Amino acid sequence: MAVIVNKEKCRGCTKCVKVCPFDAITMVDRKAEIGMSCTSCKQCIAACPFDAIFQTEEEKSEIDLSAYHGVWVFAEQRDGKLMSVALELLGEGRKLADQVGCELCAVLCGEQVEALIPELYAYGAEKVYYADSPELRTYRTDAYTKVIYEAIQRYRPEIVLLGATHIGRDLGPCLAVRCGTGLTADCTRLEIDPETKGILQTRPAFGGNLMATIQCPKHRPQMSTVRPGVMEKPVRDAGRTGETIRLSAEFKEGEIRTRILEIVKSAKETVSLSDAKVIVSGGMGLGGKEGFDLLRKLADRMGGTVGASRAAVDAGWIDHAYQVGQTGTTVRPDIYFACGISGAIQHAAGMKDSKLIVAINQNESAPIFDIADIGIVGDLYKVIPAILSELEQYEEKK
Ligand SMILES: Cc1cc2nc3c(=O)[nH]c(=O)nc-3n(C[C@H](O)[C@H](O)[C@H](O)COP(=O)(O)OP(=O)(O)OC[C@H]3O[C@@H](n4cnc5c(N)ncnc54)[C@H](O)[C@@H]3O)c2cc1C
Repeated sequence: MAVIVNKEKCRGCTKCVKVCPFDAITMVDRKAEIGMSCTSCKQCIAACPFDAIFQTEEEKSEIDLSAYHGVWVFAEQRDGKLMSVALELLGEGRKLADQVGCELCAVLCGEQVEALIPELYAYGAEKVYYADSPELRTYRTDAYTKVIYEAIQRYRPEIVLLGATHIGRDLGPCLAVRCGTGLTADCTRLEIDPETKGILQTRPAFGGNLMATIQCPKHRPQMSTVRPGVMEKPVRDAGRTGETIRLSAEFKEGEIRTRILEIVKSAKETVSLSDAKVIVSGGMGLGGKEGFDLLRKLADRMGGTVGASRAAVDAGWIDHAYQVGQTGTTVRPDIYFACGISGAIQHAAGMKDSKLIVAINQNESAPIFDIADIGIVGDLYKVIPAILSELEQYEEKK
């Protein structure tokens, strides 16, 4: 049995919105609209003073998949700066939109972040849905969920992609529950099924020991959070433009339940492995945490940052924020130095797409040499100082 609103009778009093235990009702153009999370509990029917809500005799019909169009990318921004993963998703979203034959759109929320809209066009968005409000300045679950959920209800995208950042991992499930649809978290590959045009979402499961490909055949939008660093950023073209659609961002008293007292940036957040052009990573071959001091010297000289294998993190030599690999960060810098790292499959999964891999290992049969572009067999405590001194001489000659 489906619950339906007679739009002519609805006066927009919002009584139904208040009684709905599943937050399934929203006001669109001052008329109630019943979303996919409706369970036909009928509380809204009883609450409506205008008899505008009723139940049909037919079974709740299947969702009309053809009513949903477009690939949406959540353009996550912090302090007015777009997160890299948003751009990576525009690159991936373009491929998916081309295969489905639909448009690529970005959803941007914030306070006075209009300056980012041309950037989103430059990276391939044809439309930008933009919500501007002081309440959206810093991410809060209630505020972002409300604005984006209402936009989804109104504009009906068929695919919604979010970065699997702390924010995306919080927002994605909230939106999916509101929309009553499926979400696959932390995807590492997205493809379109040529037959159904549905999305095939692949992610590591069971601690990375299995790759699962998941579909969402009967519900819309199909939603995924995607691991940062896995997809490639598209080429920026400042000549591109598009259409901006303003989203309503009005909030009632008490609608946003969280208040931000203070934002503390931990060292963890300032590590930007995914943006680094050069990463000098160390593993168990360092023999102790002091080894990272040497790696830091090389990283500083090359304008990069240090990274680590999980074994080095587990040994307590460095924070998890520096871990590269399947259960750490996926990186694709211009140069990746693997120093005293054996090259286990779980480590390689997070760095094999680096443009140039330099491996330093004293064991010539270490698997890292199978993926390295330059392999140096030797003790890293001899090789790295030698590289540093070469760099010094080179700088002096310049
Ligand atoms: C589900 C799962 C998820 C995982 N996720 C990750 C992940 O995200 N990232 C990750 O890194 N690992 C991950 N691992 C662990 C992974 O399998 C390996 O155990 C780990 O990567 C090994 O780290 P390592 O190369 O530093 O150490 P080792 O394998 O011990 O290698 C040390 C290397 O250093 C070399 N060496 C020693 N001394 C020197 C020296 N003086 N100079 C030069 N070379 C030297 C040795 O020859 C050796 O090759 C995961 C494992 C599982 C099961």
